[in-house]
Amino acid sequence: MFASRVFRPAQQLSSHVRRYATESPKSGSNNTILYGLLGVGALGGGYYYLNSGNSTTAQHGVKNESGAHGMPASKNEEKNIPAKIGAVTGIAPVKAFTGGDQGFISLLLESVENVSHNTKKFRFKLNDEDSTSGLPVASALLTKFKGPDMEKPVVRPYTPVSDEDEKGYLDFVVKVYPNGPMSEHLHAMKVGERLDFKGPIPKYPWTANKHDHIALIAGGTGITPMYQVARAIFKNPEDKTKVTLVFGNVSEEDILLKKEWEELERKFPQRFRAFYVLDNPPEGWTQGKGFITKDLLKTTLPGPKDGNIKLFVCGPPGLYKAIAGPKKSPGEQGELSGILSELGYTQEQVYKF
Ligand SMILES: Cc1cc2nc3c(=O)[nH]c(=O)nc-3n(C[C@H](O)[C@H](O)[C@H](O)COP(=O)(O)OP(=O)(O)OC[C@H]3O[C@@H](n4cnc5c(N)ncnc54)[C@H](O)[C@@H]3O)c2cc1C
Repeated sequence: MFASRVFRPAQQLSSHVRRYATESPKSGSNNTILYGLLGVGALGGGYYYLNSGNSTTAQHGVKNESGAHGMPASKNEEKNIPAKIGAVTGIAPVKAFTGGDQGFISLLLESVENVSHNTKKFRFKLNDEDSTSGLPVASALLTKFKGPDMEKPVVRPYTPVSDEDEKGYLDFVVKVYPNGPMSEHLHAMKVGERLDFKGPIPKYPWTANKHDHIALIAGGTGITPMYQVARAIFKNPEDKTKVTLVFGNVSEEDILLKKEWEELERKFPQRFRAFYVLDNPPEGWTQGKGFITKDLLKTTLPGPKDGNIKLFVCGPPGLYKAIAGPKKSPGEQGELSGILSELGYTQEQVYKF
């Protein structure tokens, strides 16, 4: 059964990670001022299913914000874009996305790769091949598309999976949803076609050693912002943060970025652990089965009293509801409830992407 299969390794991990949290806090980073400046806008966004065309009720009965407030959801996200990030940093590199009044930028689709039966990886070329995306960690971009039969354009946020320091391109991993206007459009796009992007939309501003131990609790494509944070941590030799990933999916082939997570486990066995939970596990699957449970989280996450910790949650509405309570709106976290509240974590210890 799930609990007995997962419990032993989870228990070993638990004692291991709880030890991490007793280590003394590390000093802050030089980026503190930069992200402090970005901080006001940084709580924006959320894992909502934005729809500026048809009204959409998200899975598990959670109505999307655009429907609730009677205005295009794109506006909700756009409100969170800060004024000219380049201007406040004083840093010189050419950044493709500067926010503020920059507007949408059309990018060319350079390549498409099949990741699984319903997911593709898209590489978009930046218009200046020497520029970086300009995205701070963690942040996302808005995409916009208007089909010939659409009254209004559809706008959806996506988190690039490519490194922020890469020049000349952006990679996105996108899952297609039946009748999902943006994901279907992306999956139908041909190399050489263009799509409009705007941003960045700042999320939780990360600085090296901001927390001693973080946990990433994700479902499906909710993994992309988590990957952005983990990548930033592990590519920075100064950053000693420990990271625990709990990742729920339907089947094994849905585990996005599996190779990348395995590589992190191999390179940083003392600082990174991943737990996978599957609705439909294959024969011989030794990790979690079904939903992400309270027992699993209790044994894998750093405890609420384990010092400077932070838990990040991202996924479909049902996952938020069960784990941490729904987000109130793209810009408002909403009250902490669900499993994390029952386990004694505080509102400040949890961030919903
Ligand atoms: C900050 C942020 C970053 C995101 N990054 C990514 C990313 O990197 N890759 C990616 O694929 N998506 C990502 N998303 C989700 C993305 O913005 C769209 O919501 C998604 O692609 C569906 O859009 P759509 O227009 O095709 O379908 P919609 O009309 O929005 O949805 C179609 C149907 O599918 C359901 N649905 C949509 N998404 C999900 C989901 N994740 N789980 C369960 N049901 C769902 C909806 O409730 C609806 O019933 C992100 C969302 C946010 C808020």
